[in-house]
Amino acid sequence: MSATTVAARQHWDELASRLKPETRAFIGGRYVESASGETFDDVSPRDGRLIAKVAAGGAEDVDRAVKSARAAFDDGRWSNASPRHRKRVLRRLSELLLSNVEEMALLETLDVGKPIRESLRTDIPSAANTFEWYGEAVDKLYDEIAPTSSPALAMITREPMGVVGAVVPWNYPMIITAWKLAPALAAGNSVVLKPAEQSPLTAIRLASLAAEAGLPDGVLNVVPGLGPAAGAALGRHPNVDKIAFTGSTEVGRYFLRYAAESNLKSVSLELGGKSPQLVLADAPDLHRAADAIAEGIFYNQGETCNAGSRLLVQRQIRDRFLDAVVSASKRMQPGDPFEPDSYMGALIDGGHLERVLGYVDSGRKEGAELLVGGRRVNAESGGYYLPPTILAHATNQMKVSREEIFGPVLTTLDFDDVEDAIALANDTNYGLAASVWTRDVTTAHRISRALRAGTVWVNTFDASEVTTPFGGMKQSGSGRDRSLHAFEQYTYLKTTWIDLR
Ligand code: NAD
Repeated sequence: MSATTVAARQHWDELASRLKPETRAFIGGRYVESASGETFDDVSPRDGRLIAKVAAGGAEDVDRAVKSARAAFDDGRWSNASPRHRKRVLRRLSELLLSNVEEMALLETLDVGKPIRESLRTDIPSAANTFEWYGEAVDKLYDEIAPTSSPALAMITREPMGVVGAVVPWNYPMIITAWKLAPALAAGNSVVLKPAEQSPLTAIRLASLAAEAGLPDGVLNVVPGLGPAAGAALGRHPNVDKIAFTGSTEVGRYFLRYAAESNLKSVSLELGGKSPQLVLADAPDLHRAADAIAEGIFYNQGETCNAGSRLLVQRQIRDRFLDAVVSASKRMQPGDPFEPDSYMGALIDGGHLERVLGYVDSGRKEGAELLVGGRRVNAESGGYYLPPTILAHATNQMKVSREEIFGPVLTTLDFDDVEDAIALANDTNYGLAASVWTRDVTTAHRISRALRAGTVWVNTFDASEVTTPFGGMKQSGSGRDRSLHAFEQYTYLKTTWIDLR
């Protein structure tokens, strides 16, 4: 089956009924139970049913994984392999992801409840593309020689950091894992990956695909487990050189603390967001803008770090623009993620659904008007479904305007002029992304320059490729995934000065 054809629900039901996913940790090139023998329940948000019991890694498992990664790094089996060899292995891994796209997409959708169409067409192919891209890049990177005032050869070289701990969230498990692993491995590091407890299955399976692709034992280890156990053990481990973290701002703070209290390991953080979308009265095509605004918040059930969760619309077009967004949202309803045409799937779990509904309540109590949604649907399935929800006429002081909801909830605000819009947009602790809709090129430049966000889109939303860096400012973190800049997160610069006198 090609990655662009999406089979009917029955096909996925049938595959799911036969599925026996690997649930153990992968350490030193083989699957192992957790040292304690403990497991945690991996439940599907699609229907609330148990998928599998997964090895609950703890400090002992993390320590074994770090030792194995360290041994692999120190003996050079990967860190000293030629860039060309690393390229071949990463490209092969990319091919294996694509040739196993059905299985990987199924695991991803079962774990996180996103539409199978997206897992199949976007998440797994995009992860594969990331491995291919960094594989392709690594034998084309050159080092530098600095100008010096006396005869000398002052070389500036990049070296892998050593053992990288990658701790990732559940919203785009394979995409974000690939953003960390591909540059880290391409640069020659060894990795211990800690997937989110809600979405361990694709990460566990990826380990065997990497081994099949030729990645030597010990270079990639995967330890599933709970955050405060496995995640904290990795963050505090004295022999980990680097933590690459994507997740909430709250947990990002823990990782800085873990590093401060252990070995001062390098930490890069990709955190939450509350991205503003600024629509000016002269936006080129209000219908296209309304579709993109709706998609910018409702795609992936709103569980996207850069989701455009705050709509800032110029007052003179407010009412007709909100009508257009509401009508676009009607086409973006949730449904069984195995149905090929469900636009949204289920929220990650019951606790999260309650949290999101709590925000809807809070917004209404504070005076925002609920235009659509706001109530759980398809409860009979046992899954956690919420339709597109719009809270209009909010103020920027309301909780729903300030905190990351991480669900399909759009908060709308009005502004009068461009200065107002910039001030409102920047009045947030976050700084991940923003969009501006205007036909005036000067205004577009002026606003994008003034916005404190790692990405600004003009007359579009969420355009992104592996070629462009992605990351935040302020409390959205300051790490950068994607593009050649990602290598800066996984390499140390070394100066070697050779006297030539
Ligand atoms: P989270 O912070 O709860 O968890 C992320 C990871 O940290 C998981 O692997 C989890 O097990 C681990 N963890 C949790 N508590 C821990 C602790 N006490 N010590 C060590 N590790 C711990 O985030 P989440 O709910 O999985 O994901 C949603 C968040 O991720 C949102 O805030 C979202 O904006 C953010 N996110 C950011 C980006 C980005 O690129 N900036 C991308 C995707 C998601």
